[in-house]
Amino acid sequence: MNICYEWRDAPAADFAVIGDPVAHSRSPQMHQAAYNALGLPYRYVALRVSAGKVGETLDYLTGLGYRGVNVTVPHKQEAMDWTMGADRLTDNVGEPRSLDPLTEKIGVVNTLNLIERSAINTDGPGFLDTLTPYEFARGSTALILGAGGSARAVAAVLPSAGFDVWIWNRTHSRAVALGEEFRLGTVETPTANFDLIVNTTSAGLKSESLPIDWRGAKEEGLAYDLVYGETRFLRDANSHGMRTLDGKALLMSQGARSFEWWLGIPAPREAMLEAIQ
Ligand code: NDP
Repeated sequence: MNICYEWRDAPAADFAVIGDPVAHSRSPQMHQAAYNALGLPYRYVALRVSAGKVGETLDYLTGLGYRGVNVTVPHKQEAMDWTMGADRLTDNVGEPRSLDPLTEKIGVVNTLNLIERSAINTDGPGFLDTLTPYEFARGSTALILGAGGSARAVAAVLPSAGFDVWIWNRTHSRAVALGEEFRLGTVETPTANFDLIVNTTSAGLKSESLPIDWRGAKEEGLAYDLVYGETRFLRDANSHGMRTLDGKALLMSQGARSFEWWLGIPAPREAMLEAIQ
């Protein structure tokens, strides 16, 4: 566990990740490694913020001189509301800004610029970055497991990369709602005969298994879990001959995109990835 502050005890710093829980976050060590690699004088900390307190926290951090914030579960929607002025509490911040089209489509934000009161979602584009080395052909098939916040980011970007995308969720009605919104197919039973299977559920955090029928798993297929480390989903996929990728790749990639959006210089991706191994 890293040092984690309650938001009211926020120390002098430049950037932060806010969430609840957030003590497990590897973002501070990753961003700090990036500043060290480039000789930048910034400090990045983890702050615990309870649900319902995000707007107040962001106003407070703006007053303390923080430049930017990453947002993790469960605050991405509240952070978007703050950016758009929906929960505006004080007048000492700039006017709310509009969102870029992809962020608007995803509908939640994970990266805020407090000086400009603007926000983006780097999970979607960061996710696509991590697929680049695999060189999937257009028309490849993808199955998204889950229909929560991170499934939205994945569902918003995969079609634009040429994938034929399907969604499965434990609560089927949520898969149907997401499928209708993004014009994607849904399945009631998850099978493994896809070129890419992305597990966006939090089952891996609890070592719970998913009801996947692994028959038909493809050797050249990729099983990708957004949770860090070796999950049961990845072990099962590996034992059925699939290639695997865990959530550290996305953590680095979305973080690198946040870094670049804040600072306007290329992120030292290798140093960032090394810091979270
Ligand atoms: P949400 O809470 O929005 O969604 C959780 C999803 O998981 C729902 O679809 C839920 O299904 C499903 N689920 C939970 N438990 C189970 C289970 N036992 N079996 C089947 N399905 C289950 O979470 P997020 O989408 O925001 O995040 C999901 C995961 O992705 C988290 O573990 C998070 O840490 C990780 N993540 C990692 C990132 C990275 O940088 N590596 C970036 C973003 C997220 P139902 O609708 O039925 O409840």
